[in-house]
This record gives sequence, structure tokens and C-alpha cells, in this order.
Amino acid sequence: MKFNTKTIHGGQEYDKAYGAVMPPIYQTSTYAQTTPGGHKGFEYSRTHNPTRKALEDSFASIENGNFGLAFGSGLAAIDAVIKLLKPGDEVISTNDLYGGSYRLFTKIYEDFGIKFHFIGMENADKVAHYVNEKTRLIWVETPTNPMMNIIDIQAVAAVAKEHDILLAVDNTFATPYLQQPLELGADIVMHSATKYLGGHSDVVMGALVVKDKELADKLYFIQNASGAVCGPMDSFLVLRGIKTLHVRMQRHCENGKAIAAYLASHPKIEKVYWPGFEDHPNHDVAKRQMNDFGGMVSFITKGSNYAEAIKIVEKLKIFTLAESLGGVESLAGHPASMTHASIPKEEREKTGVVDSLIRLSVGIEDVEDLIEDLRQAIG
Ligand SMILES: *Cc1c(COP(=O)(O)O)cnc(C)c1O
Repeated sequence: MKFNTKTIHGGQEYDKAYGAVMPPIYQTSTYAQTTPGGHKGFEYSRTHNPTRKALEDSFASIENGNFGLAFGSGLAAIDAVIKLLKPGDEVISTNDLYGGSYRLFTKIYEDFGIKFHFIGMENADKVAHYVNEKTRLIWVETPTNPMMNIIDIQAVAAVAKEHDILLAVDNTFATPYLQQPLELGADIVMHSATKYLGGHSDVVMGALVVKDKELADKLYFIQNASGAVCGPMDSFLVLRGIKTLHVRMQRHCENGKAIAAYLASHPKIEKVYWPGFEDHPNHDVAKRQMNDFGGMVSFITKGSNYAEAIKIVEKLKIFTLAESLGGVESLAGHPASMTHASIPKEEREKTGVVDSLIRLSVGIEDVEDLIEDLRQAIG
């Protein structure tokens, strides 16, 4: 089955009770048993729920994995992965990372005796340099947020395989429409399904997908034992979102490309960060491991400062000033005062998150309206 069919049919079957084409929302916590243990595979909804199961099968299908797991948020999914580790273990992580992942690693799990090395991963040799006998996990996010750096998943996977270390990839920005980390050698794919998979800014959810049965069993155990699951209504919404993932992504990519080109040609713009440009430092890797370049674009204006960047995002009318990304509607964010405000100025500026940086999640509206909106805001 090809990707554009999997989004609609992958892992899905008609409802066994009445033939409903969409999986019903099984809004129940428990299931009747005829005799103790006499049930139809469902006992309690923290452990299993038919609507969540349909979604988990869809996750597995679109990421080319064998097992999918749904969680109450992207961070709950990451939390489950870190629970595979023990005190004394070490993790090598991308440095230009989703702020909430960084917070979870440093503010929660460092206190439990897990050590994290945050490094730039544009060069896989650098990753190998940080491997020691305690390294258990490599955590990769690509494209990175908000600088749109690209990490070579295959090259990092080779390092992980050589040393028998798990490789997890946060695939939230790319989605499986653009990039399939399990095919490139990753062991675990993670999503904030809140973003492109859900696609309509109406639900918070996380996902994991793996190929290996033993690893899946450990994660299912953690999912049930820790209990950070999502409800049946949210499962239904994300399942519905995934059915249009491919058509939405196609348009996100087209609009993202047009907006990156518009900004690059604008006399007031200093720099545009988008992996589709031939002079992007890792354009070749992006071309090899991604099918297209996505709808996330960051930029800085010439000689601009904090106040001017704020003025631009406030003037935008169609782009909504908001955190998050990946919905049908266009969003704009100012990382220095929003998503990355908790990182000290000197620290964030080292990775390029300067005061004048603006991040766009380009939606699927008419691109001429989006460009006109940017034109009136930038001036
Ligand atoms: C939003 C996001 C997360 C966290 O997901 P939540 O659903 O908000 O918990 C993790 N990684 C990336 C790249 C994200 O954008």
C-alpha cells in the first residue's frame, strides 16, 4: 500500500458491530466480561480502547512500523521513551531542540540520574565522539526548531547500530509524508500528533512507532503502567486528521516554498531559514532523506531588533500569533519572547535564535493572501 492510501486505510477495518466506515468513539472506561477473563480483547481503557487501537494501527501504518502507541501529549510519548532508561544511563541529544523536550530532560530526568549531552548533530562523527559505555539512547530532532537545521538520520543510525544504542527521532516537523525515520535506521519514531498529524489545532496528543516486538512490549508496559494515554474522542479526531495528511502536507509544502521564495526576494529580509534552498548548509541531506521541504519557515529582517520583530508579528492578520504549528491555519511565532523565552539570551543566540527571528507555520490558505499579509506586515 502506498503512503497516500495508508493515511486513509492503513491499519483500518470496518467496525465489526455495524460496519461503520469510521471507527466509532468508544467512550467507555470498561468492558463487560461473561466470566472472569471472558472478554473481547478489551478490559479497561487505560490498557486498551478500540478507538485508540484504530489510531495506533494507523500511526504504525503511516510510519512503516509494526507497533503504534498513542499518548496524552507529545511530551508524554517522550516521557515513555526516557522511562526505558535507568539511573546512570546517558543520552546524546540534538541541541537545537523543542523547548519542552529540553525541559523534560534537564528539569525532570537529570534529577533521576540520567545524563544528557546536547550537541549539534550536523556532523555524525561528532555524535560518535560522545558515545561511551553508558550511552543508551540518541535523541534526534530534524528539521530542528526553529533554525531548520537538518540532521542525517542514516549517518546517526550507523553510529547507533555500531554501539548498540537506541535511536529515537522526533518526526513532528517532517511527518511521515516527508520523512520515514524507521526506514532510515531509527528504532523509535515520536510525534507530537498535536501538530501535523492532527492538523486542525484542536487536540493535544503524542505518538510512538517502532518495528521491534520486544521494544514495543516494553513501551506498551510503560504506557499502561504510567497511564499517560489519550481518550477515545481525541483518538477519533487525530484519526480523522491523518486521513487528509497527504493532501494537507502537499499544500503546506507548496505554500512554504512560495513564502520562502517571497521572503528571500524581499529587500528588507536579511536571512530565510528553509531546507529547500540550495545554499542551505544541509540541503543535500534534506533532499536525500525528505520527499519535500515542509511548511516551516523562519526569517530575520535586516537590522531588525526585538521591538521591530514584535511589531511585524502583531501586524499580521491572516497569520495568527500563537505557539504550536502544523494546523491548516497559518501561525507566526517570535521564539525569543515565546517558545524560547526561558533560554538565556546568550545561550539561544549561540544556536541562532536572535531577537529578530520570526517563525512561520505556513498553513494551507490561498498563498496569495498569505504573501499579501506578510507584505503589509513587513512593509
Ligand atoms: C509540540 C512539540 C513537542 C511536544 O508535544 P506536545 O504535544 O505539545 O506535548 C515535541 N516535539 C516537537 C518538535 C514539537 O513541536
